[in-house]
Amino acid sequence: MARKRTDKEGECDVIGCSKPGLRSLAAKRFSSAVPDAQVPGSRRVRVCKDHYKKYRKKTKRDRKLERLDW
Ligand SMILES: [Zn+2]
Repeated sequence: MARKRTDKEGECDVIGCSKPGLRSLAAKRFSSAVPDAQVPGSRRVRVCKDHYKKYRKKTKRDRKLERLDW
């Protein structure tokens, strides 16, 4: 099936966000950690700096939260 792919290389996968993506995460993990950010139903999502920061804030389990605000 020819489905149009919208995952441009290096772009954040969160719907409505087109910032450059830095990190690749499991879509389930990301959407459960950041429920207000909608991601396409793919296995992995690429997120930008800002969304990754949100994700990290919600998943501060085994890593310390970074204090620097980048
Ligand atoms: Zn983003």
